[in-house]
Amino acid sequence: MAKITLDNVAHSYIANPRDETDYALRLIDNIWDDGGAYALLGPSGCGKTTLLNIISGLLTPSKGRVLYDGKDVTDLPPEKRNIAQVFQFPVLYDTMTVFDNLAFPLKNRGFNKEDIKTRVLEVAQILDLTKSLNQKAARLSADAKQKISLGRGLVRSDVAAILFDEPLTVIDPHLKWQLRCKLKEVHEQLKLTLLYVTHDQVEALTFADQVIVMYEGEIVQIGTPQELFENPSHKFVGYFIGSPGMNFIPCKIDGNKAMVNGAGIELDDTTASMANKASENLELGIRPLYLQVHAKEVENSVRASVKTIEDQGNFKIVTVHLSGHILRARLPEGKPTPSENAWLKFPKDWIRLFHNEKLLTHK
Ligand code: ADP
Ligand code: MG
Repeated sequence: MAKITLDNVAHSYIANPRDETDYALRLIDNIWDDGGAYALLGPSGCGKTTLLNIISGLLTPSKGRVLYDGKDVTDLPPEKRNIAQVFQFPVLYDTMTVFDNLAFPLKNRGFNKEDIKTRVLEVAQILDLTKSLNQKAARLSADAKQKISLGRGLVRSDVAAILFDEPLTVIDPHLKWQLRCKLKEVHEQLKLTLLYVTHDQVEALTFADQVIVMYEGEIVQIGTPQELFENPSHKFVGYFIGSPGMNFIPCKIDGNKAMVNGAGIELDDTTASMANKASENLELGIRPLYLQVHAKEVENSVRASVKTIEDQGNFKIVTVHLSGHILRARLPEGKPTPSENAWLKFPKDWIRLFHNEKLLTHK
């Protein structure tokens, strides 16, 4: 196992990059601890695969260094880095049996026959492949092929880390969920460092202890799912995570109130004093889960007009207009549904303020 350090890493696919926009990775300076289960989450094109390939050695970064346990491996090829990588589409030997496919990474490294057999059977059991061990890989379904591909990543217990690049893309939803749980189990048993790339927040949040959120070639936040939900450090994290994402409304501060055009929303004293230091480009953020929507006027509420109400089973999503801004609120089952007008209440504890897209904090 290894601690992975990315020391001022940047990467451009262009020979002579001129400015920031020429970089697929802008600047990554980070340490990932040994034994963690990490998810690398971000939209398509934000640089996830580039970063993964730099860690595995398929790609040499234009700038910076990669270290495993403090040792510089920047110039080492993948096979010298002791890492397993599972790609988005299965990479298999079609003419070999499932057993031989799983055994391949071990045979290659000169493990003895007995050890290989033990380990292959163990991994086959975990992935429910025991019955197909003697079949040729070519005959199997896409799901089964990807399971073998995962198995080839998991079979080596001597690796520093296992990297997964969106490995469940071609797998059907139910099996996806099962495999994700399996991977989590394997992680708990073996305490391997796992790095799991995905653009799907549900995958990231259920799989990982720590989620690394990437946006336009940069890491914008690393945190537990709860930290990302409650205190997104950047607006992007606020709206990328959560369904629907966080609401944002431009505001100005007047005393202990955030003013949204005419409407005043009360803040607690610490939030108000932070905001007073940064008066321009301020936005108020609140999760739909915490924004209360009432059918009648209540104390400290502001009036908004209802646009749509979507029934989602055990809750409703109410979309409202507040002084020209669109907001969404999650209305729990059993609460009175507003018709034309709604009264919004912003619980002080759940109001977050953002200055130039970044969360205002006490620091
Ligand atoms: P992700 O995996 O998050 O979808 P990538 O790391 O694949 O993102 O891509 C990041 C950026 O780098 C994108 O703008 C993409 O078009 C570009 N890119 C990726 N691979 C190459 C390549 N081999 N040559 C040139 N540009 C590339
Ligand atoms: Mg990718």
